[in-house]
Amino acid sequence: MAYSKILLALDFHGDNEELIEKGQDIAKSNGAELFLIHVNEPLAIAYAADGMNWSDQVVSLEASLRKEAQKKMGEVAKQLGVGADNCIVKEGKPSLEIHRAVEENGIDLIVMGTHGQSGLQLLLGSTANSVLHGVSCDVLAIRVGDED
Ligand code: AMP
Repeated sequence: MAYSKILLALDFHGDNEELIEKGQDIAKSNGAELFLIHVNEPLAIAYAADGMNWSDQVVSLEASLRKEAQKKMGEVAKQLGVGADNCIVKEGKPSLEIHRAVEENGIDLIVMGTHGQSGLQLLLGSTANSVLHGVSCDVLAIRVGDED
């Protein structure tokens, strides 16, 4: 059975190049339409447990991260020939937004990494794990960035 709509989840930590190449290959070999998703996680979610005092600097850091993510999404979309309508950039919890994108776009396969490449994941827990819970389509977890 070939997949017809594939959602590639990109965290933009590191260069994501391996994931991007594999996602592209899988979409091509299935003759599938490719969608890209990136979710900007509010820093407050990541560090809520620390009881930190939020300052203007954090707000401006969030804004610059959002801008950077939008830029990277544009670059990857260009590289893969994915149209703007298929590029999804959201704010919130990645697993929830990925589930929402699956439902809204009739996705039948999610392609994602087994783990992210930044220390933030250690605080937030595994997105791969959360996506698997209650997902309504297949999920392909790609091992990325492993040296061994
Ligand atoms: P994690 O489980 O959080 O270490 O990340 C595993 C994979 O989930 C990553 O390789 C990405 O494919 C996906 N992912 C994690 N965070 C995000 C995000 N903010 N937006 C989109 N995809 C993400």
